[in-house]
Amino acid sequence: MDLITRENPARVDEVVGSVPVTDPAAVDAAVRRADDAFRDWSGLPVAERVAALRHGADTVAARLEELAPLLARESGKPLADSRGEIGFAVTFLRWVCDEAPAVLAATEIDDDAGRLVVRRKPYGVVGCVTPWNAPVILAVLKLGPALAAGNTVVLKPSPLAPLTVSEVAAALPAVQVVHGGAETGRALAGHPLVRKVAFTGGDAAGREIAATAGAMITPAVLELGGNDPAVFLPDFALSGADYERLVMASFATGGQVCMAAKRLYVPRARIAEFTEAYLAAAERVLVVGDPLDPGVTMGPVISAAAAARIRALVADAAGGTVTPLGRSAPGHDPASGYFVTPCLVTGLDDHAPLVAQEQFGPAVPLLAYDTEGEVLARANAGELGLAASVWSADEERAFALAGRLSAGFVFVNTHNRTGMSLRAPFGGVKRSGYGREYGREGLLEYVQSAVVHVPAAFRPGGPGMAPGAYPGGVHDGTPRAAGTGRPPP
Ligand code: NAD
Repeated sequence: MDLITRENPARVDEVVGSVPVTDPAAVDAAVRRADDAFRDWSGLPVAERVAALRHGADTVAARLEELAPLLARESGKPLADSRGEIGFAVTFLRWVCDEAPAVLAATEIDDDAGRLVVRRKPYGVVGCVTPWNAPVILAVLKLGPALAAGNTVVLKPSPLAPLTVSEVAAALPAVQVVHGGAETGRALAGHPLVRKVAFTGGDAAGREIAATAGAMITPAVLELGGNDPAVFLPDFALSGADYERLVMASFATGGQVCMAAKRLYVPRARIAEFTEAYLAAAERVLVVGDPLDPGVTMGPVISAAAAARIRALVADAAGGTVTPLGRSAPGHDPASGYFVTPCLVTGLDDHAPLVAQEQFGPAVPLLAYDTEGEVLARANAGELGLAASVWSADEERAFALAGRLSAGFVFVNTHNRTGMSLRAPFGGVKRSGYGREYGREGLLEYVQSAVVHVPAAFRPGGPGMAPGAYPGGVHDGTPRAAGTGRPPP
């Protein structure tokens, strides 16, 4: 049996663990088991499913201190970040448990237009394919809503961080995990018994997954990459703590976050002041070293290939000035793993690859602009539209510009995870994908509406309708009482 062996990206000689590769025949068997399990799981009342999920969340919470170092060692995420991710996954699962019963409840209208029941039915087997950069939360964002709704799940995590998420999935009901790379992912996304595909990852895999699912008429949620602009309006007023938060909005998890601040647009007249404060904040909060060292805030990147790709993007930054950021933890040896020195790059134009592409690493371009119209056009350029941010002392002005940005989520006066909300749907526009996670919309991704309807015309004693006629409707201009569809008394 082939094994995926995962090394510690901070100490590449250390093996963290291994998992067996699931070949396509074994993927088929897992999907069939999930399809069999669907009948029982979907037949449970939502309260029972939610109780089982809540128990799973409690189990993960009880193991947090044991799982966080495992996540740090396999992914290179600092310990506090790893703890935060697992804790947030627990919080999200509990939120799903609280919200799902109401969001998933059937609605019924029985009035003078007829009787209409809309049920929220699960799809069946959901196939989830997830990346390595936040392996636990990005899986749980799919598992929680899918399971609460009555689907069963087969999850394929990234071979670059398969260990912690497998432990988390094992604590939850109605989930199986399969392992491998693209071949395993293809076998899952293209399986005829998979009724919905949920994918988070990059552009190339996203296109292939969409095509594979599309060939089976299987609907998909695609959460893809971003190249988030952070736009500082001329009146921005940042404290030292704001600068520190901004630095971590770009460099948390080594910049390997879909919604990291990836391009900084600052008014030309304030560039010098901004740069000085930014470098000072980085010196305070950005500490590179071994993820298990409690003082470290940035570890290595995920692989040798990722390190080479990011270094090449920085080396390609012709005409730019590269300023290293932060400091090393005492005793840190960058040669022990896939460490890339975090840097700020100034003086580039928007066509430089580091600006035009998603860098997904610890190198951030700082760009000068002159007018609001110009910065809006530059921020909106390109094919990606995941998140963005606007920073201003005037909230109204920030919200006004935010509404004109091509992004699924715009943060105001913050960026990245500090700006998230469990109740706010998250997802991209343009080629950053489709479908949403979090919020009511994220729960509704995993159900289809199923309607039962009798028009009033055909109820006993009803007036009937001429053959082939179109129905009139409740929207005939008569005011209706809220909630009933009936005219007010
Ligand atoms: P990736 O696309 O290389 O891999 C993602 C997953 O897809 C992995 O499990 C991988 O094994 C699998 N896979 C790869 N090719 C496949 C194929 N042809 N068929 C089926 N499965 C396949 O992405 P990655 O490097 O793991 O993650 C980085 C990317 O993910 C970045 O672009 C980042 O912005 C994006 N991302 C997006 C979000 C979001 O919420 N929008 C969140 C995190 C990461």
